[in-house]
Amino acid sequence: MRESWHERFAETPDVLKNAQRQRTIVPVLDLEIGGGEFIVMAGPCAVETEAQLMATANHVRRGGAHILRGGAFKPRSSPYAFQGLGLEGLKLLARARQETGLAIVTEVMSEDDVPMVAEYADILQIGSRNSENYSLLETAARSGRPLLLKRGMMATVADLLRSAQMVLDNGNPNVILCERGIRTFETATRNTFDVAAIALLKQISHLPVIADPSHAAGHRELVPALARIAVVAEADGLIVEVHPNPDKAWSDGEQSLDFAGFDAMMNALEPWMEWRATALNVEKLEQHELAGLQMAEAVR
Ligand code: PEP
Ligand code: MN
Repeated sequence: MRESWHERFAETPDVLKNAQRQRTIVPVLDLEIGGGEFIVMAGPCAVETEAQLMATANHVRRGGAHILRGGAFKPRSSPYAFQGLGLEGLKLLARARQETGLAIVTEVMSEDDVPMVAEYADILQIGSRNSENYSLLETAARSGRPLLLKRGMMATVADLLRSAQMVLDNGNPNVILCERGIRTFETATRNTFDVAAIALLKQISHLPVIADPSHAAGHRELVPALARIAVVAEADGLIVEVHPNPDKAWSDGEQSLDFAGFDAMMNALEPWMEWRATALNVEKLEQHELAGLQMAEAVR
């Protein structure tokens, strides 16, 4: 007999859809993540300067972003690379929120920093390298802030679900899952964008799922295509890197869009977002009809 997904992921029952819970909507300021609207999080990989952050925040807001991303604490592949501005970066993010009204998502890397980051951020990002750091997850969960949980670069879907279950177990229902590419034998792209994981997570879990085409691709020219694929895969949103001058960026410049590139991506996504809205409505109608039929059947 074919094993069901529920049997397969039986270890993490609370993150799976069930009769009571078909979707989790994560509230962030006046936004609803997972509520039907396609949510765009955009901004630089790292907060560098006030001018860089404010210019980017204003630009992405005008271009249709809902949330500003930007790292103040940076996990880097090299120990000698820029590690982030820390508290100064958090303060700049808070100023950008005040100026633009955009909500803030930023990474927290250590348990000790959780209270400080939670004071400034609307969403705490758990990075790929910390995806299964359970003591960080526990502390971050208890801050009460929504968590954007990135998939570890070597993590399976089951690993990601276990980390999400851990957050739920610590009393925080507001988890956003993020597919950001995994390591495979392919080296042309920085990671391999696992679209099947997006489709699978949307099918089995009630948690919102967003895609990070920037870290998946590693090359800015591929980002719009991966973003389009995420919309069509019915992800709940995107997190994408944007910089005023990517070639001068202190981190992840190769994969960052410039302002014109961000605008072009957003314009190109428009018809696909319309398609997605229609597809989701049709699905909802079908579910209503099915529920109606089941009711009629039960009454008979
Ligand atoms: C980032 O968002 O800049 C980042 C470091 O992402 P990841 O943890 O997915 O590598
Ligand atoms: Mn980055």
